[in-house]
Amino acid sequence: MNTLLAAHRDDVELVSPLKLLDLPNDAAWDGRIAFLDRDGVLIIGSEDYVNTVDDVILLPDSAKSVGSLRRAGYRVCIVTNQSPIGRHHWDRSNLSRIHQQMIRLMLEQDEDALLDLILHSPYAPWEGAWARKPHPGMLEAGRQILDAASRDSSLEGVELKFGDDWTERPDESGSVMVGDRGVDMSAAARYGVRGLLCDSDTGLADVIDSILGVSA
Ligand SMILES: [Mg+2]
Repeated sequence: MNTLLAAHRDDVELVSPLKLLDLPNDAAWDGRIAFLDRDGVLIIGSEDYVNTVDDVILLPDSAKSVGSLRRAGYRVCIVTNQSPIGRHHWDRSNLSRIHQQMIRLMLEQDEDALLDLILHSPYAPWEGAWARKPHPGMLEAGRQILDAASRDSSLEGVELKFGDDWTERPDESGSVMVGDRGVDMSAAARYGVRGLLCDSDTGLADVIDSILGVSA
């Protein structure tokens, strides 16, 4: 497994400045992260991938659920496998446009539905990337980037560590990973965070009450 094949951010280098957005009501961040898969969690997925801006359709209440997570103090980190890039179907600028559309649609529905960090794995399955779920590399990167950005938005001098090289890991007992597939739950387990499997037709709204501790 190649730990050098790391996660990507959409338009910038992985370790480059990240200005964190304020949490609602200017709450202080206590370190909890909600790691979210994208397709089948926030937007409708497809066997043939989400390929264009026009394919972006929010799942019911996904924006409201992201807003609820941030109102409850979580930072939100998207972790999405995007093998169409590695398969040379299209490039990362297309992915960036898709994500800008998703962000726009979410904010229309809930002004707190901000995404603190979007990470993607552009690799094809056969490349053996540590960043591709079911491997935990994207979650490892997300934690270290959000922690570093909360200290200093420049991320200057930050060196990410992966796998066995990352020995001093923070407590993730308050964090969660939501996905609609087994690979998401495997990545959560291997990283060491509570995984919640949602129905891909319902998405994040399916599990939001169990995350926030609201009884049905
Ligand atoms: Mg999915």
